[in-house]
Amino acid sequence: MDLRLRMVLLGLIAGVVFAIVVAAQGCGDHSKPVRHGVHPEGRTPLAHSRGSPAAKRKPLRRPNARGAFFSWRSGHSRRFDAPTGRRVVALTFDDGPGIGTQAILAELRRMHAPATFFVLGSMAAARPDVVRAEQSAGMQVANHTWSHTALPTLSAAAQRDELSRTQRLLEQLTGRRPRFFRPPNWRFGERTARVAAGLHLTGVMRTVDTRDWTLPGIDEIVRRALSVEPGGVVAMHDGGGLTRAQTVAAVPRIVSGLRRRGLRLVTVAELYGR
Ligand code: ZN
Repeated sequence: MDLRLRMVLLGLIAGVVFAIVVAAQGCGDHSKPVRHGVHPEGRTPLAHSRGSPAAKRKPLRRPNARGAFFSWRSGHSRRFDAPTGRRVVALTFDDGPGIGTQAILAELRRMHAPATFFVLGSMAAARPDVVRAEQSAGMQVANHTWSHTALPTLSAAAQRDELSRTQRLLEQLTGRRPRFFRPPNWRFGERTARVAAGLHLTGVMRTVDTRDWTLPGIDEIVRRALSVEPGGVVAMHDGGGLTRAQTVAAVPRIVSGLRRRGLRLVTVAELYGR
């Protein structure tokens, strides 16, 4: 091979290598992943799976450290939002059946407004008829543990017992096995999320806490509840304390106020998309 041919071949090889290196680097700046469809806060990009058959079947729930839901996924607990893009919100009532349940239920029924009741097993055992009334009024009945003990303070077995004992009773009373639970005092850890997943339960937090149990006044409870964004979950109480009168009075104003904003009231299950 003469020198000139060798030089031409070397030149060709160098050119190919250069082209491969440039192609591998791409034209974008990989230090800014947002340009490649990943949200800067680590959220899964919406556009990524939009239009695919899987996206049509499954509602898209974005990971969000302050999201309304949590579950055990890929070896750790994760919080995420309700599917976005719908003008729906969920009203939720905790700690019953209690002193305010019947009156709240009457208001919701009168206004044809669905809501979700996070029921304590111990209270349900004392007032089974009220739980049945919630179910027959079209409300969703969900699990708030048996005794309202902070779950992270318990062993995995004790946490499972708190939840499964309540599951059994609620299924017996309503004919339906609850799919959602709310941890007392909003406290949960990895162990809680894992135990709940074993019972096929999805955790529900809130996006707006009215803190109605502190009796801040009817106007304040209404104002807080009406600050909810689409896809949000509003937390209130139908049980606990000596009176739920402020909550009872706030409910019809909250329902009509949300509707005036063009928001549709749904159960937690419907908000979640199942
Ligand atoms: Zn509670």
